[in-house]
Amino acid sequence: MPEGFSRPGVFQVAVDGPSGAGKSTVARALASRLSIEYIDTGAMYRAVAFKLMESGLDAADGPLVGRMLDGTSMDFAEGRVILDGRDVSGLIRTAEVSGMASLCSALPQVRERLVPLQRAMGSRKSVVMDGRDIGSNVFPDARFKFFLTASAEERARRRQAELAGRGENLSFEAVLADIGSRDYNDSHRALNPLVRAADAAEIDSTAMTAREVVDLMLGMVRAGLCDPR
Ligand code: C5P
Repeated sequence: MPEGFSRPGVFQVAVDGPSGAGKSTVARALASRLSIEYIDTGAMYRAVAFKLMESGLDAADGPLVGRMLDGTSMDFAEGRVILDGRDVSGLIRTAEVSGMASLCSALPQVRERLVPLQRAMGSRKSVVMDGRDIGSNVFPDARFKFFLTASAEERARRRQAELAGRGENLSFEAVLADIGSRDYNDSHRALNPLVRAADAAEIDSTAMTAREVVDLMLGMVRAGLCDPR
């Protein structure tokens, strides 16, 4: 099957938005309630960043990073991230990896390898896929597109609590500054920047619980699935 073409009956739900808006939480729950697969594309960029940090390669050297990726295997089995045969799921969630992922995701050599992989994964079976450029670039014809936002302060609060849950205690100011710089990097890179697709439904989750967001999305997806287009 040519890249980007889906099997009949297969549909994609794109969930994009800035860091810390709660995309992974709601995308995972939405996929589970629809009984389809969830794909976290941020984890792919994080895995690349993690390997770069471990190998000590210069992250600014695109061709070198590209060659490293050609010799890398990545698997996303049952919600785990397997990098070169090793489960790195927990290791890629640190603040340090977040910063590096934001930098190396701007490299064309990284995106030109990961985007086709994402298209292939989302074309075989129906998926909820979260990221920054899913509705605008990876699956511009996705049947459902959501753009999830929240105020920077609320996103920093959520991110700080998530990191604290993993034993990383950062100040609110440090997390807010990190969110600000990732927002800037993600929306100003030349290739596939973070942008709301014109046909994406925007949901501001600042004052909403994850459950409320999922219920809202689920209602829209179910209504759309009944619409025979
Ligand atoms: O979503 P998450 O915070 O795990 O993503 C880590 C980084 O990967 C982001 O800061 C962003 O730079 C990059 N990313 C991207 N395109 C995607 C998903 C993530 O550039 N589709």
